[in-house]
Amino acid sequence: TGAERLQKVLAASGIGSRRDCENLISEGRVMLNGQVAKLGDKADPETAEIYVDGERLVTDTRLVYLAMNKPLGVMSTMSDEKGRISLAEYVGRVAQRVYHVGRLDAETEGLLLLTNDGDLAHKLTHPSFEVSKTYLAEVSGTIPQGFKKRIMTGIELEDGFAKADSFKVVTSAGGRTLVELSLHEGRKHIVRRLLGEMGHEVHRLVRVSIGPIHLGDTKPGRIRKLGQPEIAALF
Ligand code: URA
Repeated sequence: TGAERLQKVLAASGIGSRRDCENLISEGRVMLNGQVAKLGDKADPETAEIYVDGERLVTDTRLVYLAMNKPLGVMSTMSDEKGRISLAEYVGRVAQRVYHVGRLDAETEGLLLLTNDGDLAHKLTHPSFEVSKTYLAEVSGTIPQGFKKRIMTGIELEDGFAKADSFKVVTSAGGRTLVELSLHEGRKHIVRRLLGEMGHEVHRLVRVSIGPIHLGDTKPGRIRKLGQPEIAALF
């Protein structure tokens, strides 16, 4: 885009009219790239660092697509009124104002997509889109003969039918079994409820992929930018 008058950049980010923003500048309440801004200053909304009354203003509206490994115990919300750890603590260094696409339980770890692209977020969370999500689950007990067939045929839960699209045992040791399964839906606690109802309590749950996007070796708490091929595959 290039540089524009600062009051125009401020107004475009929604904090007030151009006239209001001129007043903020003359009152010395706006910092631009480390200095108190003056009327007449210009700023590039994609790169400028702007603070109003000490708060960072998000002016970069370029679309970004990020993959995060949500750690155990973190809420899938952008803030939490009870002061629990939310995604805000992790996205603070992202220049754009991003939101999470869908949710994971606080006790579930793994892949969460973040974007400022409302159209994509809408598409991925719409029930008719049915993107397949893959989970690793550590469950109690060992998996009996015929279990895969039963979970892929599906069972009735209190809020309706549920089934897995794929299922396999990864390893089994010490009375616990690690399984990998995929589902193309996102009802609350669905994986825990499905496995629990079938006799296997879930002790650890990690989402490892959402459609074509894989968690890979992104460490807990880390955020990575999706590559162009991954973004293209999502659309
Ligand atoms: N299923 C669950 O039980 N929890 C999640 O967070 C996601 C799917």
